[in-house]
Amino acid sequence: MALIVQKYGGTSVGSPERIKNVARRVARWRADGHQVVVVVSAMSGETNRLIALAKEIQAQPDPRELDVMVSTGEQVTIALLSMALLDSGLKARSYTGGQVRILTDSAFTKARILSIDEQRMRADLDAGYVVVVAGFQGVDEAGNITTLGRGGSDTTGVALAAALKADECQIYTDVDGVYTTDPRIVPEARRLKTVTFEEMLEMASLGSKVLQIRSVEFAGKYRVKLRVLSSFEDHGDGTLITFEEDEKMEQAIISGIAFSRDEAKITVLGVPDRPGIAYQILGPVGDANVDVDMIVQNVGHDGSTDFSFTVHRNDYVKTLDVLKNVATHIKAREVQGGDKIAKVSIVGVGMRSHAGIASTAFRTLAEEGINIQMISTSEIKISVVIDEKYMELAVRVLHKAFGLDQPA
Ligand code: ADP
Ligand code: ASP
Ligand code: MG
Repeated sequence: MALIVQKYGGTSVGSPERIKNVARRVARWRADGHQVVVVVSAMSGETNRLIALAKEIQAQPDPRELDVMVSTGEQVTIALLSMALLDSGLKARSYTGGQVRILTDSAFTKARILSIDEQRMRADLDAGYVVVVAGFQGVDEAGNITTLGRGGSDTTGVALAAALKADECQIYTDVDGVYTTDPRIVPEARRLKTVTFEEMLEMASLGSKVLQIRSVEFAGKYRVKLRVLSSFEDHGDGTLITFEEDEKMEQAIISGIAFSRDEAKITVLGVPDRPGIAYQILGPVGDANVDVDMIVQNVGHDGSTDFSFTVHRNDYVKTLDVLKNVATHIKAREVQGGDKIAKVSIVGVGMRSHAGIASTAFRTLAEEGINIQMISTSEIKISVVIDEKYMELAVRVLHKAFGLDQPA
C-alpha cells in the first residue's frame, strides 16, 4: 500500500464530466489499496474570471481581498470532487487550505508555505477517507486567507506530499508529461521520460508553466518523487523528475527550450561610468519590490555608459516610474523601455561538458534574421531576449537545430 498525492489542474476539473472522470481515477487507486490525497485547482478559466471581476471594482485589487476572492475557485472544486467520490461509493472529505492548516506567510497573492499540519489528513486516511484539499491557498498566522501565486496548486500538491512523506506526487494535467518545449507551440516536441530537478527548475523559472517553480524547489528540497501525467489518458508513465546522480540513462545535451512573454526591458542611457552606479539604479528598483532578471552594462566611453535590465512585464510601468527619479538624481541622459520582448532559453545539464552550444544557438537565430538584444548564461542554460514577434519562430528553429524534433 502506498500513499499517493494527486494534483489535478484546471482543465482536468473543467466540467462536471471531467470531475467525475477524476473520481473514477481516484477510485482505481483506492481499489488497488492505496491511500490517496487529492489536490485540485479551480475549474479552468475560473481564477482568471475572478481576477477580472475584482478589477472591475478596483483597478489594482487590494491583495488581501483578492485572495479572499480567488480562493473560492478551489473551494468549489473540492466540494464537487468530494461529491463525485461519495457518489461512487468512496469515503471522502474536502478541506480548504486553512482547514488543513497550510500555514503561510502573509504575502498576499504570492504567499510561501511555512508549515503543514498533517495530523488531520493522516487520521482521515487511516479511517479510509480520500482527502480532497484545495490547491493554491493557505492561511497566515492571523487567520487571513492567502494564495500561493498563479499555478500554485502544484506547490500545494508537492508540499502535502512532503509533509505526509508520500510515496509519490502525481501532477495530472492536460499534457502527458514534460516536453522538450511547449507542445502547443511546437507540435514536433517530444515527451521526456525523465528530466532532472536542476533542468526542471530552470525550465520552470524560464517560463515553462507546466510546473510552478516553487513546486519544483519543494520537491528538490524534500526529495519528493514527482511525476507529471495526463489526466485524459489511462496509460503512460508521464515524466519523472529525477536527481541527476540517480540518472543512469544516456543524457541528451539539451533537454528543452523554454520561453516567456512576461518580460520587459529597460535601458538607462548615458549613465556616468563610475563605481556605485549599478547600486544607485537597481537599489531603488529592489526597494520597490521588483525582481530584476537579466542585466547588461556596456563598456563606457566618454565617461558614460548604458545600463539595461529586464523585469516582469507586470512591473514595467512601476519600474519606469521609479527610474524617472533615479535618472535625474544620477544625471543619466534618458530612460527607455519596451515590453514587446520575449525571452527564449535553451536548457540542458549536458551543456556543462559540451562546447559550442551558444554558437549553434546564435547562428541558428542569425540565419532567421532574428536580432538578439540581450544574452545571459549559466552552467546549464543560455537565454536570449528578442523581439516578441519572433518568439515562436525562434523556439521552433532552436528546437530543430538541437535535434529535439520528433523523428518524422
Ligand atoms: P494545469 O491547469 O493542469 O496546472 P497548466 O496550463 O498550468 O495546467 O500547465 C500545462 C500546460 O503547460 C500545457 O498545456 C502546455 O501548454 C504548457 N507547457 C509549457 N511548457 C511545457 C513543456 N515543456 N512541457 C509540457 N507542457 C508545457
Ligand atoms: N487556480 C490557480 C491559478 O489559476 C492555481 C492553479 O491552477 O494552480 O493560478
Ligand atoms: Mg498549472
